Amino acid sequence: MKILVSKCLLGYDCRYKGDNCRNDKVLRLAEQGYEFVGICPECDGGLPTPRPAGEIVSGNVLTKEGIDITQQYKKGAEVALDLAKRNNVAFAVLKSKSPSCGYGKIYDGTFSGRLTDGNGVTAQLLSDNGIKIICDDEL
Ligand code: SF4
Repeated sequence: MKILVSKCLLGYDCRYKGDNCRNDKVLRLAEQGYEFVGICPECDGGLPTPRPAGEIVSGNVLTKEGIDITQQYKKGAEVALDLAKRNNVAFAVLKSKSPSCGYGKIYDGTFSGRLTDGNGVTAQLLSDNGIKIICDDEL
């Protein structure tokens, strides 16, 4: 059974700072027979690593300096959805709080570390297409 997984949880150094957030609970899913389909929507959308952090502000994704990177986020979300469909994934395990992968809670757009209710761009598109999402911190 295949599942979509945020690549930073698998140990890839694809976070905006160039590091990862490897999660052993996620990795252990492989021992239960799950096959990972890795995604990093921000990279897949054409953004470099490292890169400026983005947050969702009034429906658009902006850097702290106000540069609009919404299109890159949307492109990465489309790549993720395409991979999810082509691999017929059972569900997705995504990194919490991210403006791409976060589900339920994301940073609130003030670049202050505060959270608000909402979904990242990729999580929203996957959810809209019926794909069940579990955040890493729910495992
Ligand atoms: Fe991880 Fe998703 Fe951010 Fe990529 S876009 S670094 S997979 S949280």
